[in-house]
Amino acid sequence: MSTIVTKFGGSSLADASQFKKVKNIILSNDERRYVVPSAPGKRNSKDSKITDLLYLCHAHVSTGISFDDVFNHIKDRYCAIVSDLDLTFNIREHLDIVKKDLEDGASSDYAASRGEYLNGLILANYLGFEFIDAKDVMIFNNDGSLDSEATASTLKARLAITPKAVIPGFYGADKESNIITFSRGGSDVTGALVAASIDADLYENWTDVSGFLMADPRIIQNPKPISKITYSELRELSYMGASVLHEDAIFPVREIGIPINIKNTNKPEDEGTFIVKDTDISSKPTAITGIAGKKDFTVISLSKASMNSELGFCRKLLSILEQHNISFENMPSGIDTVCLVISDSQLKNKKDAVLEEIKRTCNPDNIEVHPNMAMIATVGRGMAKQRGTAAKIFTSLSNAEINIRMIDQGSSEMNILVGIENDNFEKGIVAIYNAFN
Ligand code: ASP
Repeated sequence: MSTIVTKFGGSSLADASQFKKVKNIILSNDERRYVVPSAPGKRNSKDSKITDLLYLCHAHVSTGISFDDVFNHIKDRYCAIVSDLDLTFNIREHLDIVKKDLEDGASSDYAASRGEYLNGLILANYLGFEFIDAKDVMIFNNDGSLDSEATASTLKARLAITPKAVIPGFYGADKESNIITFSRGGSDVTGALVAASIDADLYENWTDVSGFLMADPRIIQNPKPISKITYSELRELSYMGASVLHEDAIFPVREIGIPINIKNTNKPEDEGTFIVKDTDISSKPTAITGIAGKKDFTVISLSKASMNSELGFCRKLLSILEQHNISFENMPSGIDTVCLVISDSQLKNKKDAVLEEIKRTCNPDNIEVHPNMAMIATVGRGMAKQRGTAAKIFTSLSNAEINIRMIDQGSSEMNILVGIENDNFEKGIVAIYNAFN
């Protein structure tokens, strides 16, 4: 029998009515054997995520302020889910333990992880599945990084004797049994690790949208959905700001080629988006798959005569960034020129010191700084084999009277990146989208 690992996001488990949808989805296919829940998310735009409230409880305890009000709110939400589902499960006793642990100074990771833990207990009870505490199967090193090998082997052994289980997302424990969480949105990573450990046939990631769209719906009205996308394309789009899935959720399943299907809990009949290996896409690719972008970059352009033959120029340049603990996004170069594209959040107040050091160490003829830049990535596995993609992008921007300040085509030939002024960002996305649709 095939095995499907399903992960449900916070909005899919925000209240009892969402739990009912989730149960219907799981029970409609016997192959859905392992379920990874998030903590209850927002029920509407003004609502709070349980994870945020738990972090708040921890912050209150650390500053000596009473957290009773916030905790009671959390308690009410879980109790309402249990009673609306007509379960006899005693969630209160688990909530009391969590409260006591928080009072006793539990860590912020512990606090945050309880959202998934409590939701997992309820879901397991509701489905009649076994509950596997993630602290026993997601193994972290004592420095906080994941021990992938130990996690894979522990999960594999445990699931081999467990036909159906709920494994809460987002956390695990280190070798001293301290609870450690992934970064925010990390239940996606848990789901991917569970799927990879048993070589599942499919990893379904259930959320509140029917998969990926070709562009951000806040900028483009009703953008076309993406039915199939490769792991590499998704990586490029996610990196440039298209968010549905946690970035780190791709690697574990990509290695062994398990497809991911992004599905909508509120519209289970929609196909959603399939994320697959490059070789699994047989249909002729269209020129572009999606467009994404981000604002607030600074571009530092350097020119120096005979830069191309100067040994060690780039090494010196990059080591300056490294010394300042700055990572860069792109580094397009010409014969005697090189640009560094750096996100403002990285550069922060280190700009002057970095520029000074570049001048001193690299001795460029000219150095220019362009702040307030936005990057737009146009991604498509088909563009390498098709003529005219770049021409279309540049013409559309020129027709929209947008000045392109930087162009970079990654070595993958799957992504054309343009740098434009922040103010032109939305207009640029619209222009490129319209050129291909
Ligand atoms: N509940 C966690 C968060 O809000 C993890 C997750 O939902 O994936 O980030």
